[in-house]
Amino acid sequence: MSSFDEMDAFEGASLSARAMAALPKDHLKWLNEPQLEAATKFDGPLLVLAGAGTGKTRTLISRIAEILHTGRARSDQILAVTFTNRAAKEMKERVQTYPVNVSRGLQWMGTFHAICVKLLRRHSELAGLKPNFTILDTDDQLRLLKQLLHLSNIDEKRWPPRMLAGHIDDWKNRALTPDKVPAAETSTFNNKGIELYAQYQIRLRELNAVDFGDLLLHMVTIFQTHQDVLEQYQRWFRYILVDEYQDTNVAQYLWLRLLAGAHKNICCVGDDDQSIYGWRGAEVGNILRFEKDFPGAYVVRLEQNYRSTPHILAAASNVIRGNENRLGKELWTDAQEGEKVRLIGHWDGEEEARWIGEEIDAMQGGTRGARPFNLDEIAILVRASHQMRAFEDRFLTIGLPYKVIGGPRFYERMEIRDAMAYFRLVVSPGDDLAFERIVNTPKRGLGDKAQQTIQMTAREHGVSLVDGARIVVDNGLIKGKGGKALRELIDGLARWNAMTRGPRIEVDDDSVIDDGTAPMRFGEPEVSHIELAQIVLDESGYTAHWQNEKTPEAPGRLENLKELVNQLDNFENLQGFLEHVSLVMDNEQEGDGAKVSIMTLHAAKGLEFPAVFLPGWEDGLFPSQRSMDESGLKGLEEERRLAYVGITRAEEVCTISFAANRRVFGQWQNSMPSRFIDELPEDHVEVLTPPGLYGGGQPAAGIENRAAEANVYNSPGWKRMQARQGQYGMSQPRESRNTVIDATAVASFTLGERVFHQKFGYGAVVGIEGDKVEVDFEKAGTKKVVSRFLSAKDDIPF
Ligand code: ATP
Ligand code: MG
Repeated sequence: MSSFDEMDAFEGASLSARAMAALPKDHLKWLNEPQLEAATKFDGPLLVLAGAGTGKTRTLISRIAEILHTGRARSDQILAVTFTNRAAKEMKERVQTYPVNVSRGLQWMGTFHAICVKLLRRHSELAGLKPNFTILDTDDQLRLLKQLLHLSNIDEKRWPPRMLAGHIDDWKNRALTPDKVPAAETSTFNNKGIELYAQYQIRLRELNAVDFGDLLLHMVTIFQTHQDVLEQYQRWFRYILVDEYQDTNVAQYLWLRLLAGAHKNICCVGDDDQSIYGWRGAEVGNILRFEKDFPGAYVVRLEQNYRSTPHILAAASNVIRGNENRLGKELWTDAQEGEKVRLIGHWDGEEEARWIGEEIDAMQGGTRGARPFNLDEIAILVRASHQMRAFEDRFLTIGLPYKVIGGPRFYERMEIRDAMAYFRLVVSPGDDLAFERIVNTPKRGLGDKAQQTIQMTAREHGVSLVDGARIVVDNGLIKGKGGKALRELIDGLARWNAMTRGPRIEVDDDSVIDDGTAPMRFGEPEVSHIELAQIVLDESGYTAHWQNEKTPEAPGRLENLKELVNQLDNFENLQGFLEHVSLVMDNEQEGDGAKVSIMTLHAAKGLEFPAVFLPGWEDGLFPSQRSMDESGLKGLEEERRLAYVGITRAEEVCTISFAANRRVFGQWQNSMPSRFIDELPEDHVEVLTPPGLYGGGQPAAGIENRAAEANVYNSPGWKRMQARQGQYGMSQPRESRNTVIDATAVASFTLGERVFHQKFGYGAVVGIEGDKVEVDFEKAGTKKVVSRFLSAKDDIPF
């Protein structure tokens, strides 16, 4: 439907009374008393303020069904705001299972942004835009700001564009157009912030473009300045419903208030204890102020939790009690007692991933827990997305199906693929696909035309793209900035490639005839492959590319890159690492079978799982150091709410873990268990010591040495861990744990031979193909592996 007139033509057309009476009313059947009240109390503002798992979302869905059932509005006259597109999809599906009329579609059910794009396309001219406006990505946004800084002769080193972008974002979240920014903020960005913001908005209009924040800002402005437009929508959206209201920002709040201003049929559900988007401008104050803003608002509180066992609920409640700024609510459940929350400490992150993998295996097989669990009943919720890598690697290795929710899998992430493309080129300069991927990433001014020149030159000379590019540069075929940048890139690639080897060793051996076919010999490289990887990322400008980016995702991408570099420590050289990745990716199962979910705590909001793992509860990681540094106590309280969100996702089993060490840039760093662990109530927690590991006592001798080397024993984290031993379980690494793969040990195998693989365990050789060996592993099934990753049975390091 493209215009309002069309929409108005359908006003009043609803189901006949008879048709309605024929529908069974079972959309209300499963509600408890206060839920029923919230689902059926119409006319006027309503707030459902309640803790996790009390059925807020369920009540909201039932309310929509009731509106449709009673013919109060048609499905396209209901405005329902959800937090993610995924939540919107789920809600639509659930409403459709009720026998109510949704024939006109729940078109206005979605996120604030999705709904505002739709509205703004209709009214773009009121914002000085054409209907086909483009939505800028952050790259474009930064480029635009850079241009503006340049025009104003502002030194972008001292005043970086991403800092300005941050201020602009903040103003937009607060619904402030440039003319409305308070005088007190005049000094922002060296007194030029507001002026630059104004110029930026003008430039966007000239480009017929908007940024993300504009979607709401423009709609709020249009509603504020065009009463007629606002009134149309106030009439049209007869009922407004908002889930996760605690995470709305000021602009979203104003937009809702404007739309609900006439009939005030607005129902918001939320939980102040689950406000976790303060860092994006969410104002938990919105929910606390609801009754003031909507006088006469009816407030329903739900206290019965239907999701979790009493132990899980008690643990969550105790943690959140540590926050000062909250309304405070008590939750109860009549669910069966179930298992206590489980807590376990590990030596390091890899050990944590290994243990969780084994646990999941056992749970699936029914040997752990009260019943067998299906993989899709299990979730791993992490604080930072770089934590996912260890789990993904482990699960790929043992063949445990998993999916990453709310983002791609680790090795599929954009920044990881980019970095890997650089590494591939460093190792094999003839890798044209890798070259194509990175030639203009980061942007080097080498657009389509320049790339065609390289392609054609390479084809003409029958050489690789890198060699083609060298010819292009030598003959000055690409002029200007692009040509210069291309020279830098190929010089860099040659330099990095040389760094993979040591100096050439002259072979003083008469038996070798130097006819050009004798293999060259090289000494040890002067820099480690880990350092080299970092050099490549830095010198190519790739690290800086993300450092200059101000999007909320950019810090996460930088962390992922760090994690990638960390991971190299497990391998002898870059080549071995690249082979590992291509092999694990190759072993990946496809299909729609059940999978373990891995996601961030933020992405898990509103969801629930029978079994939840919460790894990485270490100070600095969770609560996140960044969040505490940037926002102090406020930041810490938001982290604690995140812990509450995490624990309350669990229905039956909740397992919290931490590691004493994590590797950062190949260096051991020790960490203290999260302060949130101290806040778990003893009576509801069981401390685990993993069986078969060196739990309880001192670490094994070899380990002790390594720990001493890393000075772990002197760290407060270790001392605290020791003090707690017996209180908290603590796993130690196996003595045989030796993750450095010896790439020089080339072995020859015969068919049928029993072999051992570091990651896949025992198996029998079933095929040999060059340096790849196909092995039927006892646990992991048949896989192709590189022969040097295998040991013959006799060499097994046990
Ligand atoms: P969150 O704060 O995490 O978003 P919520 O308050 O929205 O939680 P829901 O997701 O709606 O809670 O409900 C939690 C679980 O409890 C769901 O599995 C839901 O089906 C179930 N549930 C809710 N109300 C009832 C009820 N009256 N009887 C039985 N089960 C219920
Ligand atoms: Mg919910």
